[in-house]
Amino acid sequence: MIKALIRIIFLGGALTLAGCDHTSLPEVSMLPAAASNPRASSASQSEAADDFVATGAECGIDRRQVATMVYLPMGSDLGEGILGCVLLRAPARVRNAGLHDRLWTISRALIPDADEFRIERFILAQDGRTDTLAFVATLDDQGRSWEYGINLQDLNLLDRSVFEELLSTIIHEYAHILTLNETQVTYDSALLASYTDMEMSDAEYEALLVEVEADCSVASGVFDGEACFMPGSYLFDFYHGFWDWYGEDALELAFQGTLFKDYRTDFVNDYAATSPTEDFAESFAAWLMPEHGAFLITETVEDKFAFFESQPELMTLRDQIEAGLDEVRAGRIF
Ligand SMILES: [Zn+2]
Repeated sequence: MIKALIRIIFLGGALTLAGCDHTSLPEVSMLPAAASNPRASSASQSEAADDFVATGAECGIDRRQVATMVYLPMGSDLGEGILGCVLLRAPARVRNAGLHDRLWTISRALIPDADEFRIERFILAQDGRTDTLAFVATLDDQGRSWEYGINLQDLNLLDRSVFEELLSTIIHEYAHILTLNETQVTYDSALLASYTDMEMSDAEYEALLVEVEADCSVASGVFDGEACFMPGSYLFDFYHGFWDWYGEDALELAFQGTLFKDYRTDFVNDYAATSPTEDFAESFAAWLMPEHGAFLITETVEDKFAFFESQPELMTLRDQIEAGLDEVRAGRIF
């Protein structure tokens, strides 16, 4: 049984967490060079993997090390995996290509074709140190291409509640890709760079944040501390519809967890109340799977559903995702 799940999104640098839990999933910076070279020939990929396994020191092996298998998928072809980090006893699930294939097939069924091409890197890790089940992260400074990861720890597909949690999590992660790509938001490259700049002082970082926020407001957007939601984007309208009235401190209160305490019935669950992006993603998943136990459907949540339903493109996406849910539940495609 998976404990309270925390979904995280990495933005910018591979090790940068936006808003959530700082015990991270895979340490992508430790991948062999082949992983950053999309669709290198499989021969050179497996060579790189062999080298990597042989020289595991590159990973700094210790008991806390996370083992990862990384794929660079093209359509239904998952390609050959690259073993990213190896434990002395590599967990069987990280070597279970059949399981990885099933997870990719399930993910593809739920992620609409129009955005599937954005996923350039698929990471499977087994990390028992975190409750995080999945994450997505941008691979560039615009949100065009993404990496998508699943934590194999506790992932027993034969357990119905785990399986349903996985489905809702995939939909949640997809909602991030849908709303945080280059057609929806803008990122500031200096701010992205700051996430991995260990030299930068807190004062410099604060000054940069103020500057980026000002740029975003000149563009009439909404800045959430990481991205600027552009006018007309899903998150921009969602923010104005459901978050604006919490006031100027809304993001801070959300981050501290007090927003949920004060406005419990506005959200499908406590995680949704941690930020507008998580609220959108959780509400979107609840819209697709309202019967799922992780969601409480209140009157305000119904209003969020009505917001989704007012957008024809989202209704089209819902049809596609529902068809995918039917398929994977019937077990027809894996
Ligand atoms: Zn999330």
